Amino acid sequence: MPNTKQTLVMKFGGTSVGSADALIKAGQIIKEARAQYPRLTVITSAMSGVTDLLLKSATLAAQGNVDSLPDTESTLREKHFSAANALIRDEKHCESTKLEISGLIQTLVDLCRAIAVLGEASPRAMDAVASLGERMSVRLLAAVVESTGIRAKAIESSEFVVTNSHFQSANPDFQATAEKARQCLNPLFEAGIVAITTGFIGATPDGVITTLGRGGSDYSAGIIGSVLPADEVWIWTDVDGVMTADPRLVASARTLPEISYSEIAELAYYGAKVLHPKTIRPLVEAGIGLRICNTFNPSHPGTHLVSNGHSNGKGNKADKVVKAVTAIRKQKLVTIEGRGMLGVPGVAARAFGAVASTGTSVPLITQASSEQSICFAIPSEAADHVLASLQKNFAVELSERDIDRVWATDEVAIITAVGYGTRNTPGIAGQIFGKLGEREINVLAIAHGSSDVSISMVVETEDTENAVKALHELIVESTQVNI
Ligand code: ASP
Ligand code: MG
Repeated sequence: MPNTKQTLVMKFGGTSVGSADALIKAGQIIKEARAQYPRLTVITSAMSGVTDLLLKSATLAAQGNVDSLPDTESTLREKHFSAANALIRDEKHCESTKLEISGLIQTLVDLCRAIAVLGEASPRAMDAVASLGERMSVRLLAAVVESTGIRAKAIESSEFVVTNSHFQSANPDFQATAEKARQCLNPLFEAGIVAITTGFIGATPDGVITTLGRGGSDYSAGIIGSVLPADEVWIWTDVDGVMTADPRLVASARTLPEISYSEIAELAYYGAKVLHPKTIRPLVEAGIGLRICNTFNPSHPGTHLVSNGHSNGKGNKADKVVKAVTAIRKQKLVTIEGRGMLGVPGVAARAFGAVASTGTSVPLITQASSEQSICFAIPSEAADHVLASLQKNFAVELSERDIDRVWATDEVAIITAVGYGTRNTPGIAGQIFGKLGEREINVLAIAHGSSDVSISMVVETEDTENAVKALHELIVESTQVNI
């Protein structure tokens, strides 16, 4: 069947452009995609490790330390130049690409020296530094692609991704971005040129460089894919897609061929590092499909993200609901308890207000129906701060014994079973807790019902691995039933 799709956005992560070998594979993938899609945009991350190195240099400079700058310069030069020398066939083109990259390395040195003189790095200065990684890799990748015989042009996304000035975590203006992106990219497509652009970066309406936050190149793919709009967005990474569990914990973990946007949102939230969580929203709203695939295993179909709504409601089979299991470690459960809380409106509002005032977010909440206790999870490093804030806010109730105690457990883990239908499928909770019971794993708290795609439970830290393995058996067993 002929391909009726025209517009494709592909994003390559840091490891996918992190070495000459990886760049050869990326170049090949781009060439093949170009043969199918006349309007192709390629978004690149910085070469792996580069953004960390840049930010470290700026942080050291802010402390007055520029001693490691010469080493950083040569690391960056070696990383980019060795790939350029190996892959850019035309000597002149190779030299001009290296010259541009040298200029950017010099910008790093200048910025770090200025930061050292000032003794501080503003968020705006940090973004100017962090953006250099993508600004280097985009030139390298475009030259490599051209060496494969494909016409390509490097273009910095700061020319068309318009954001507010919330440096280090800027939000895009979709309307302005749509107009500018089409203006910049359509002429390239019409001339048969592949647009190679930077992930992670935008600019304020005045043209000051911003970044979308760490790991933000995925988000760039979501933004650019939705404004063009693309027929599809493919994210190229270094794993085969989204897995049923962390393979370091569960040997039988495998790639999911398909997962819905709302399911992956639970996974992204619960610590799966495959996709930046913000990527999804613009694509869901624009109805654009997304695929996650492996640069180092390109014939593997990867994971397709599909729209929600695959649950069959009550007819669902409990044995097919759970698709993936994840764990968030290093949490503590905080409990506020007291007989005087019964029927008193506003305790929860004040409790969460007190937590919010410490800048802590809460991944799980439960409350007993007697209303005599509220319990919620927080990252363990925030526990002292949160307890102090609660004690201060409830000082009167604590002294009058309406609240008996505000306390935190030792470190625990939150285990989440993800799959569409967890709320509407009879028997699913029974299966999950049955599995945990068989292994004598105690469940300290449960959160379920706020979404139809997950059930979360809190277990002792030492039970984490065992609990993930136990719940993963449900996935393995359901596949065996299918066969
Ligand atoms: N280079 C940026 C980072 O390391 C963005 C990205 O790779 O997604 O955070
Ligand atoms: Mg990433």
